[in-house]
Amino acid sequence: KILNPATRTGITQDLSENVILTTVDDIYNWSRLSSLWPMMYGTACCFIEFAAMIGSRFDFDRFGLLPRNSPRQADLIITSGTITMKMAPALVRLYEEMPAPKYVMAMGACTITGGMFSVDSPTAVRGVDKLIPVDAYIPGCPPRPEAIMDAIVKLRKKIANESIQERAGSLEQTHRYYSIPH
Ligand code: SF4
Repeated sequence: KILNPATRTGITQDLSENVILTTVDDIYNWSRLSSLWPMMYGTACCFIEFAAMIGSRFDFDRFGLLPRNSPRQADLIITSGTITMKMAPALVRLYEEMPAPKYVMAMGACTITGGMFSVDSPTAVRGVDKLIPVDAYIPGCPPRPEAIMDAIVKLRKKIANESIQERAGSLEQTHRYYSIPH
């Protein structure tokens, strides 16, 4: 029997109070947004703020976020700190080793644009989004843990409204490979 979720046609009054109708996308998204596991990735001073967020004062865990040391166990990477040309291949490789669906947050001026190193540094990458697709930018030098929290809340809302197929398709389209000028 096919049931209409809007009208609950075909469900008796008694049963409708004990049955929850939903979609696979909703269940899947709810479980993903409740257990985002970020990879520990820090190259400079911004990571100090990320590390502060892991502590008890900010209670990062209440969102289900458990920092991981392996890309195989992570579905979120928060790039905190300056990205150098030498680091670029390693970062892209780490990203590729994370299982999909996966997300990227660019934290701080250095990782978003190269920051103060964008003026005359020959080695700083001018924006991590030239290497990997970024879902959220957290501006600041450095951004405070509250700003990271705010980005996490917004990312959770984004995940809640995603379709599994659309996410897979958009990752396929936006994935870019790095090219290091010689
Ligand atoms: Fe350090 Fe500021 Fe760059 Fe963050 S944005 S890595 S705090 S210089």
